[in-house]
Amino acid sequence: MTAKKQVKNIVIVGGGTSGWMTAATLSNQFKDKAVNITLIESSKMGTIGVGEATIPTLRRFYSKLGFSDIDVLKATNATCKLGIEFKGWSGDDSSFIHPFGLFGQEVNSVPFHHYFHKLKQSGDATPFSDYSLGVNLAKNNKFFQPTTSPKNQLEIFDWALHFDAGLFGKLMRDYSKANGVTLIDSKICHVDLSKEDGAITALHLENTTTVTADLYIDCSGFSGLLIEQAMKTGYEDWSEYLVCDTAVAVQSELVGEPIARTVAHAQKAGWQWQIPLQTRMGNGIVYSSQFISEDEATTAMLSNIDGKISQEPRSFSFTPGRRKKAWNKNCIAVGLASGFLEPLESTSIALVETAVEKIAEFLQQPDYGQEEADKFNYAMAQEYERVRDFIILHYKLNGRTDSPMWQHCRDLAIPQTLSDKMAAFKANGELKRLPWEIFGNDSWLAIYDGLNYAPASYDNSIDKFSNAFLTEQLTLMRSGIKKNVKNSQTHADFLRQYCGFRG
Ligand SMILES: Cc1cc2nc3c(=O)[nH]c(=O)nc-3n(C[C@H](O)[C@H](O)[C@H](O)COP(=O)(O)OP(=O)(O)OC[C@H]3O[C@@H](n4cnc5c(N)ncnc54)[C@H](O)[C@@H]3O)c2cc1C
Repeated sequence: MTAKKQVKNIVIVGGGTSGWMTAATLSNQFKDKAVNITLIESSKMGTIGVGEATIPTLRRFYSKLGFSDIDVLKATNATCKLGIEFKGWSGDDSSFIHPFGLFGQEVNSVPFHHYFHKLKQSGDATPFSDYSLGVNLAKNNKFFQPTTSPKNQLEIFDWALHFDAGLFGKLMRDYSKANGVTLIDSKICHVDLSKEDGAITALHLENTTTVTADLYIDCSGFSGLLIEQAMKTGYEDWSEYLVCDTAVAVQSELVGEPIARTVAHAQKAGWQWQIPLQTRMGNGIVYSSQFISEDEATTAMLSNIDGKISQEPRSFSFTPGRRKKAWNKNCIAVGLASGFLEPLESTSIALVETAVEKIAEFLQQPDYGQEEADKFNYAMAQEYERVRDFIILHYKLNGRTDSPMWQHCRDLAIPQTLSDKMAAFKANGELKRLPWEIFGNDSWLAIYDGLNYAPASYDNSIDKFSNAFLTEQLTLMRSGIKKNVKNSQTHADFLRQYCGFRG
């Protein structure tokens, strides 16, 4: 076993969302310890300036730093997100919501969806979505904070935020600086590597200073300044599975009241997002440059926006995939420097959170060796792959016929891990959960059902229940959800009451 390296100085490269989230967590962890944290960013170069839709893990992340939901909602002009509405993925008029919450309630310890499928196979046409409180709140633009002591599974749902990423970065920056993080605003011009083992030995800055550390955290964005440009770590390219490689983003005025869901609207050769904040709408299109030109994609996107456009559209090219080793020698890549998957399920910031949490856990002493690096690389690779599979699922099951891209996505080979999961579900509704999955069973159910992928059979231990009994149980579940939705306030009223929303 290699000797552990003591950590007294940490340098974080990059002041985007990932850099400041890393600085905030580590500065909180090392508040009372002799560990210096320096963050280097170039304000001239700026940050990517997109990344506004999150998943509920973000709320756990900031609560560990001592922020309340209301603090963050107010500070970042945020709205509440109950899930994602997928419009047009099975044809133009189709729509379904992937909620952050459960569907139905177990009976006799058998998951709800088996009962649902049994009744469906007997001719019951009630939609699966009627059994989700999260979906029905989102559809009706209602919102309340979930109870911490639910009476039953029907009351369980979760939520996330749509926020201004710049303001969230500022919140994390102010917090980090108050905890003693030193900020250097200068461009890094050169990275020195050790001739012996290729580890980083120094960073040379435009302001002529040289900075050294025991551990370098690369949050430099797509360029991967340390992990790739300097160390040549390598990238696992997933373009064979995911054909979208470009995005164009633009902000517009908010029209009407902000909705409590992200919209992912399928288009001719990609999909368009809508992310409502209290003060504006974030819009963008993600598409495959093999199937549509940037001009055509941008024109189509702009024609779907109701409010006045408030900035020039900006385009981004990307390669779906992940860095072969997120932790290489004395450098750890976090955020875009470690990999990227299109924002269909709003997962990039969540992958930053899990990376930062693991770094904090491994540095508790604070020291590290190869064992920590190997564990980190294994876990991050798994997490990226599980998210990748979940995103591919949406394309594999699409039902669009308006352009060759959609047929191409149905025909593409998929990873074995995903085909095994799909086969198990198809056979008898079995949900195979793999380690390191960010998305739980109900998320998979939402996509399977929303994209019309039903199991051939169900857990036949439930055949002991009569259809009449099950119909009665399921009717009760639906009426409980309806009552809860009816009695709750609108999302806009929630924002007015607690978050200073003036719309
Ligand atoms: C089109 C698009 C939409 C997205 N939507 C979502 C979403 O809805 N939800 C979500 O979770 N994620 C989303 N993401 C991802 C999200 O934007 C990023 O995960 C997040 O912003 C973190 O970025 P970052 O901090 O890693 O990189 P960046 O924001 O690019 O920051 C890089 C930093 O490194 C600094 N830097 C670079 N080179 C140097 C140098 N030589 N010297 C000094 N400093 C340097 C830069 O100045 C900057 O401060 C989206 C991404 C794209 C492209």
